[in-house]
Amino acid sequence: MHYTGTVYRNPYEPPSPLLEITQGCSHNKCKFCNMYSAVKFKPSPIEWIEEDLAEIASMYPNTHRLQLLSADPFVLSFEQLDEICDLVHNYLSDIEIMTMAARVDNIKDKTVEELEILKSKGIVELNLGAESGDDWTLKRVNKGYESKDILKQCSKLDEAGIDYWLTFLNGLAGKEHSKDHAINSAKIFSQCNPTVVGTGGLVLFEGTGLLAQYRQGKFNPLSEKGLMEELKLFIENLDFDGRFITHHTFSMNLNNSNFKENKQRILDSLQHGIDNLDMDRLTQIRNNKRSL
Ligand code: SF4
Repeated sequence: MHYTGTVYRNPYEPPSPLLEITQGCSHNKCKFCNMYSAVKFKPSPIEWIEEDLAEIASMYPNTHRLQLLSADPFVLSFEQLDEICDLVHNYLSDIEIMTMAARVDNIKDKTVEELEILKSKGIVELNLGAESGDDWTLKRVNKGYESKDILKQCSKLDEAGIDYWLTFLNGLAGKEHSKDHAINSAKIFSQCNPTVVGTGGLVLFEGTGLLAQYRQGKFNPLSEKGLMEELKLFIENLDFDGRFITHHTFSMNLNNSNFKENKQRILDSLQHGIDNLDMDRLTQIRNNKRSL
């Protein structure tokens, strides 16, 4: 198999073979991310993709599911993705579901009709790393799009019937802008129709712009308790009918439940954590993280 640089398997998806169709990240400029900083973005050679498909077919001939890599393979044009979908079906006749991570702006050059075709060929779900719905925050971390783009591109996915996850990066705006990040993200996400909202807590990884700003005294990160309070504010303002997951450093019973039915229980668990958890221990766990 051909894998280049970081290989990220979405831990919340059912296990499935991983097929790399792009290398690195087409953007690679977010100030909190170092995942693909050492990899130059490019589409994988079609010969590599064919060799990998042949290998997957020899090991898992009946697989019905694939995860496509790398950071944002949906950046490929409709024509490129269409060709890859056809190749996948040539080698793996039982494939029904192809999922992948995507940036919001990966969708913008594809029409609803093209999205419908890709869906009919198995691209049924995208994992959108939105991170925030607050324009100040999106700009500050150089995300490369605005909240209105999230609304516009998600509505195209809705029209085409492609499911999507939206992620919220807890702590991304630091202390001073925490409330706006939480409330405005919840407002934007609530106007979309994600099947999953996922949240993770910010870690200042080595080599990132945010860590450099922190060292210069220009970024004021939230404490562990502040992160949980921001997450609570986000959840209080969030309204959607789907699954909620979080890979915060604390482990409480918040995951994998229908959000609408469990919102109050999730908020109560979070408040219990805010009141009772050992924040020093949580800080230590977060500081030991080396990647997302
Ligand atoms: S967060 Fe996503 S889009 Fe931003 S640089 Fe990292 S991989 Fe690329």
